[in-house]
Amino acid sequence: MAKTTRGRPPKLSTDIILRSADGVSFGLSKVILAKVSGVFRGMLTLPDVNADTGEPQTVELTEDADTLEKLLRLCHPHPVKRPVFDEFDELFAVLDAAEKYDIEIRADITRRILLDLLEKEGPARAYAVACLYKIPMLARRAARLLVKEPLFTDPDADPKTIPPELRSISREAFEAFASYRVCCVDHVATEVLYADRERLLVGGHTYEKSRRERNITHVQGSWVWYHGQACPGTSSASTTVDARSNDISSNPDKYVEPCYWWIRYKQRVVEKMLCGYGGLEGCVVTGKALLDESIHEGESCRTCASSARTHLMVYAQAMAKRIERAIDEVEFDLPFDIPRHSQRDGTWTYTRG
Ligand SMILES: [Zn+2]
Repeated sequence: MAKTTRGRPPKLSTDIILRSADGVSFGLSKVILAKVSGVFRGMLTLPDVNADTGEPQTVELTEDADTLEKLLRLCHPHPVKRPVFDEFDELFAVLDAAEKYDIEIRADITRRILLDLLEKEGPARAYAVACLYKIPMLARRAARLLVKEPLFTDPDADPKTIPPELRSISREAFEAFASYRVCCVDHVATEVLYADRERLLVGGHTYEKSRRERNITHVQGSWVWYHGQACPGTSSASTTVDARSNDISSNPDKYVEPCYWWIRYKQRVVEKMLCGYGGLEGCVVTGKALLDESIHEGESCRTCASSARTHLMVYAQAMAKRIERAIDEVEFDLPFDIPRHSQRDGTWTYTRG
């Protein structure tokens, strides 16, 4: 056995050459090759025809040099520079070769490459690939990012609005995403847009001065739009907010109507998030144009003027976070069965065709 210094791999001689289909030679050690590949381990027990010449044994392979180099770097037992992948196809060529030569590539490494490729190639392409090759982790991540894209799942939508990468995916895969998006919209509506009194009104923000007492939310001292009963333009229209004055003793049943400019902001948010064709994501509610329009209205109210900007910014940011969290809470139902072997580690799977 070769002697090693701590942390440094043993220096092994090149005694086998793998030649790619396009004629590039890779010199390797048989010891290492046998260690990483079940197929080569078996093959190397056969007699070497070059044994008498002293020349390294040469094996012709059908993979191209790029695929072979990436495969060898990925499976090398000692630290080597990891390959960089630019397209999903490159990775699958390597994974096919790994399967063919019975080479195991660590699941965490494959997972990282898949996530890098998701970033490089975008969620539409990643989703199509994930459904084709049945990769649950990639399908979930890609679907989560795809909800941020403008709406294209409306059956009446112009087919040209569908990202080209998704035009050839199966009907099941397309419908799985469409219903996931609907669930995300519903969850954002019930958990955030219509649930203020439990979350954004009561807590989780800088203006957390409101409190719940005997099932009533007291908001004096909290968001500025609850400060004044006399704000001009205050609507008597119903809001979903169960907010009441702090002054229970004098008038326990008195509701505090929020200032109208804030109600308008909420209406615009609901229109954008629930009725529009834009992407579904938290930053929609912190959009500059949307905030500016509402702040401008808020600054024309005498009570709200001085704090409209800061309060609405903080409120919008807290709401954006809640929206992202609500979308995270929605589970994506895979449009394919998880192949049994993948359940071993649960991190990723790869099934050809
Ligand atoms: Zn006001």
